[in-house]
Order: sequence, then C-alpha cells, then structure tokens
Amino acid sequence: MTPSAPGTPTHEHTSLSQGLHFVGPDVPSVADLQNCIHCGFCLPTCPTYVATGQELESPRGRLHLISAVHDGRIEATDRTLAHFDRCLQCRACETACPSGVPYGRIMEDARASIMANAPTAQPVSWRLRALALRYVVARRPVLRFVLDLGRLYSRSGLQRIARGPLRRLLPAKIARMESSIPVLTETPFRETGTLASPREVTARVALLLGCMHGEMYPRMHEATVRVLAHAGCEVVAPPEQVCCGALHSHAGDAETARALARRNIAAFEAAGVDAVIVNAAGCGAAMKEYDRLLRNDPHWGPRAQRFSHSVKDVLEYVAERDFAHDLGTVDETVTLQEACHLAHAQKIREAPRRILRAIPGLRIEELKTPDRCCGSAGIYSFVQPDLSAAILDAKMEDVMRTGADVICTANPGCTLQLQAGVVRTGMHAEVRHVIEVLDQAVRAGAAR
Ligand code: SF4
Ligand code: SF4
Repeated sequence: MTPSAPGTPTHEHTSLSQGLHFVGPDVPSVADLQNCIHCGFCLPTCPTYVATGQELESPRGRLHLISAVHDGRIEATDRTLAHFDRCLQCRACETACPSGVPYGRIMEDARASIMANAPTAQPVSWRLRALALRYVVARRPVLRFVLDLGRLYSRSGLQRIARGPLRRLLPAKIARMESSIPVLTETPFRETGTLASPREVTARVALLLGCMHGEMYPRMHEATVRVLAHAGCEVVAPPEQVCCGALHSHAGDAETARALARRNIAAFEAAGVDAVIVNAAGCGAAMKEYDRLLRNDPHWGPRAQRFSHSVKDVLEYVAERDFAHDLGTVDETVTLQEACHLAHAQKIREAPRRILRAIPGLRIEELKTPDRCCGSAGIYSFVQPDLSAAILDAKMEDVMRTGADVICTANPGCTLQLQAGVVRTGMHAEVRHVIEVLDQAVRAGAAR
C-alpha cells in the first residue's frame, strides 16, 4: 500500500474489472488503515465482538477485511459485506484504540466505495436501503406520510393490542420488530421561524429539527427550546433545513449525504446564528463532519469547515452556559446511557453528567458500561434484529441493576431502542433525553 495523508482519497485498485472493489472518490486512505497495529485493545469494547466472540465481527477483523479489499487480495463478496453490515458504526473502538485509528471514517469510506460501483453490481440489500433512505427519509413529505400511517397505527389502538394480548401469539421475531416501532401518539413538532425569544438574549442559535425526531419525540424539541431560552438563547429554526444525512453516510450513500449537507449549510448560514444546536447525537456527529464529507468540493469545502465548527450538541452547549440557576427539585433516580455518537464520535462524556448533577434532588446511578451501544445504531435494529436484540438484552440487564426510574439518553434512536427494551423486559421506567430532565427542573423552578 502506498501511504497517503489521513483521510485523503486514493484511487488505487479501481481498475480491477471483476466483482466488487473499492472505487470512486471515497476509497479508504492507506494511512488510516496502516494506523492499526493489530493490538486488539478495541475488541472487548466492541458490542458485536462481545456478542459473537468472532474476530471478523471485531474492529480488527473488519479492518483486516477492508485492507484486503483495498489491496485487491480479496473481492467484496456478500460474505465480506455481511461483516460490514453487522458493524453498528458505534465507534467505541475509536475510543479504545491507542493508535488513533479513525474506524468510523474508514467504515463509511469503505461503504461509499462499494456503493460507487455500478448500481447493478451493488448488493441488492444495500441498493434497497439506499433507495429507502434517499426517497423516503431524505424527502420530508414522503417521510411524513409514512409516519402519519404509523401515527394511525398507534392512535387506532392496534399497537396497544399488538403489545398486549396479541404479543404472545406473534412469532418472536415479529414481536421484536414490532416493539421497535415508535409509539406515535404525540402531535409532531413542525414549527419553524423564531421558537423562543427570552427577555435577556445573550446568544442566538438555530435548532436542527431533523427528519425523524420532531415527528417521533416532539417533547425533546419542546424541552430543548425551553432550556435554551432559560440559558439566555433566542432560538430559531430555518424552514429550509433538511435531514442531516447521517443515515445516508452510514449506509454508504455519500452523494445523497453531500447533497443534504450543502442544503443545510446554505440554510443555517442564511440564519446568521452563533451556533447550530443539535439534540440528536448521531445528527450532530454527522454535521460536525460535513467538512470531511465535502473536502473535495472547492466551493463547499471551506463553507463546510466554518459550518462544522458552529455545530454544537445541545448538552455540550448548555453545560457551558449559565443553566443551573432557578432549578426546581426532580425527585427521581436516573441512569445515563451515553449515546455512541456523543461519547465516541463527538467525545462528549462530561457534559450530560454535569447537567444531571446540577439538578436538585436527582439521584444518578451509573451503568457498568454506559458507553456500550444499546443496539439501535440508526436502522440497525431493523436490518440486524437478532444481533440488535442480543446487544439490547445486555444493555437492559445493566439498566435493571441500577433500579432507575428514568433512562437518560441523548439521541432519538437510542430512545426508541431503550423503549423497546422497556417493553420487552416489562420494566417500569421512562426513557428521556437529558435535556428533558433538565427541562423538568427548569419548569419545577418556575412553578415555585
Ligand atoms: S464501530 Fe462499534 S460495532 Fe463496529 S467495529 Fe467498532 S466497536 Fe465494533
Ligand atoms: S483498531 Fe486500534 S485498538 Fe483495534 S487492533 Fe487496531 S490499533 Fe489496536
């Protein structure tokens, strides 16, 4: 392999004519791959390795496969790609790695370089996933139509029946998949324009509404807006914003991710704000990496760099502001499930704890492995239901040991997965974003 700068695309091995190889502008960098010294420190932190005990389901094993495809020693067969598919892209291996291997971008690049093959050569499941993400998730009217059908299912009572008397009659796999469908009874959050304008404004910020979370968990946005106002922020939501493209990047559809990134950069630049606030860790991580996504684009690259610096996770942002004044008591026991894309991709671990510790009356019980993935990972629970369920079971065992009333998260995907875990275990616990718990304290303080 010929070394190149980290993250620099290479176009080696694009001339092989048979089978699937890495092609296009996103081929994983040799330098990134060569960083791996095969020490295996990442193995015990990898949920898929822990669940299966197989080297090829570990970061080291997958890096070995990616290097072999890169060098043309093997072709990317369905069997090889199945090992890519079983990766959660949780990036726990990055945190554990003493050698600084940027596993997340290597895996994203590998997937993008498979998807850059001719459409007819791409694996059917990958093509279908990309089409669904491109034509449903990235298109707001279509996505809203699909979610409205889900809302009908929840509100009609059918979901309650499926989770109640019918549950024991359903095949285990169907029951498991059903428990992953969100309960859509709340009115979605679709507001744009100025969302909050407190009396004393010390900063002006814009909120990412996202494709899913305002539809599934409107209370997260409502809480975010109230807390930001409490911390002195005027909050706006530019109507031109779109889905962040994280799911598209993870699935290897770099072109759709780049198209969405350009639209978001333009929308948020026009808002002229001090920061772009994101309350979904997966979306925030993707938006902080727009600079890399658009690195080869001479027009958008520099704009993406400026934009990425303006993106802040809501917990990171609030923890640095004057948020702890006038809080009321919250008499609950919480535990914290660290979202992978907050802890491992954005390296934010202290901010959620700082916020929770500041809430009067709140008791915090730590998990044994708070930064171990819950098995959600975007659409992983739908495409890898068995492995996702095994990872969730381990997580729920850890949660139950704490005796918490509330499981705190920082990502809507984790919320959905943990809610499925609560249904499966029959636990009596709620799942809430950390910002919702802080909002509870803000409202309790205001009501005194
Ligand atoms: S990203 Fe997560 S699942 Fe994938 S190899 Fe790394 S630790 Fe394992
Ligand atoms: S990815 Fe890092 S921790 Fe894992 S084997 Fe390679 S060098 Fe070691």
